[in-house]
Amino acid sequence: MKSTKKKLKDENSVNSANNGDDAIARRPDCPLDKNELGHSTWGLLHTMAATYPDKPTPEQKCDMTQFITLLSKFYPCHICAEDLRAELKVDPPKTDSQEVLSQWLCRLHNKVNIKLGKEVFDCSKVNERWRDGWSDGSCD
Ligand SMILES: Cc1cc2nc3c(=O)[nH]c(=O)nc-3n(C[C@H](O)[C@H](O)[C@H](O)COP(=O)(O)OP(=O)(O)OC[C@H]3O[C@@H](n4cnc5c(N)ncnc54)[C@H](O)[C@@H]3O)c2cc1C
Repeated sequence: MKSTKKKLKDENSVNSANNGDDAIARRPDCPLDKNELGHSTWGLLHTMAATYPDKPTPEQKCDMTQFITLLSKFYPCHICAEDLRAELKVDPPKTDSQEVLSQWLCRLHNKVNIKLGKEVFDCSKVNERWRDGWSDGSCD
């Protein structure tokens, strides 16, 4: 019987993509690996920031900060969560408005991109990517 304590596949290998398994097609209903989890989580976070109020109440600001703080405690990739907790100490969530939160999150994501050697995203386009669709109409 397989251990239920099996860690996320490849979770300790910060820079690798898929263990070199790319050539072998994986079923679509397998447990998430670190990259699939990351991709889905960024999608959720950026979409939450995209739909966050322009003028949040004090309670909404507090809830969003708590959500991100709790994510950094329970995020099921230990290396990622550890780095996220350290990063939140240096640059805590900025939750004053949709624009402010989206820009803060974009910068946070870019720090991870840089750590992983990925391209830096142009944060002036964050609402096109996650809220409005590209200005050339390709998402309409
Ligand atoms: C909080 C967190 C911490 C992580 N820490 C690590 C780690 O320490 N080590 C590790 O190996 N993996 C980590 N990951 C996973 C990693 O960030 C990627 O999700 C994973 O490598 C898959 O990358 P991807 O190419 O699918 O694109 P992703 O980085 O998942 O991005 C998804 C999409 O977001 C858009 N995007 C990219 N950058 C930005 C940005 N700055 N702002 C807005 N949109 C953007 C792009 O359109 C991209 O296709 C972390 C994920 C999260 C959510």
